[in-house]
Amino acid sequence: MSNVHFHPNDDILLQHACGDLSPASSIMISAHVELCPHCRQRLEDIEQHQASVMVSSESEDITPDLQAMMQHIMSQETETSTPVETEKTTTIMLGDKAFHLPHALQRHSENIGPWSRLPGNIKRAQVTVGGQSKMNFIYMDSDSALPEHTHQGNEITLVLAGEFYDEQGTYRPGDFILQTDEHKHVPKTREGQDCLCLTLLDAPLHFTSGLATLLNPFSQLFFR
Ligand SMILES: [Zn+2]
Repeated sequence: MSNVHFHPNDDILLQHACGDLSPASSIMISAHVELCPHCRQRLEDIEQHQASVMVSSESEDITPDLQAMMQHIMSQETETSTPVETEKTTTIMLGDKAFHLPHALQRHSENIGPWSRLPGNIKRAQVTVGGQSKMNFIYMDSDSALPEHTHQGNEITLVLAGEFYDEQGTYRPGDFILQTDEHKHVPKTREGQDCLCLTLLDAPLHFTSGLATLLNPFSQLFFR
């Protein structure tokens, strides 16, 4: 029984299986799937289904030999994301804390920038993966909060370590949270509990309450 409670929807998984997601979004899904046995199974089912649709739609045009061969290929163990152990960075450091990096990110480890400090005991390290959207590690120290904000686009958050909570729930390692411009939230950590997340933003955050609205020019900081 998995402890992961928040998952990507079928549509996103299907797009991932079809290779239709941006590289950055695919990293987010791959990292989630690594942490979530439930979605690993769902993805396998989708891939099997896609494969069988392909075989049946093409079967009129191909010879039985070829069809048998294709079925044989598709019945092979699908490639897993578990790589052969080579010399590579498997952790991300923050001060003297080491956090395990998901395999999906290990090959991008040289693209992880230095940590910078944001207001509210938050630290951020950018991951350069190309494309329009911005990927960041966000580290929230214990007992810290991000100002209330909405999203002008989509925000995907994947918890890697520790936990945080907002008005909708508590999020733990593996949880995959998709926020759109309809959501408004105040992510917080509890006392004695820090949190490391990987986030993907496709537009700057928009801070909505009180003094935090003054941060709006500043929200570009989250989006670099
Ligand atoms: Zn899942």
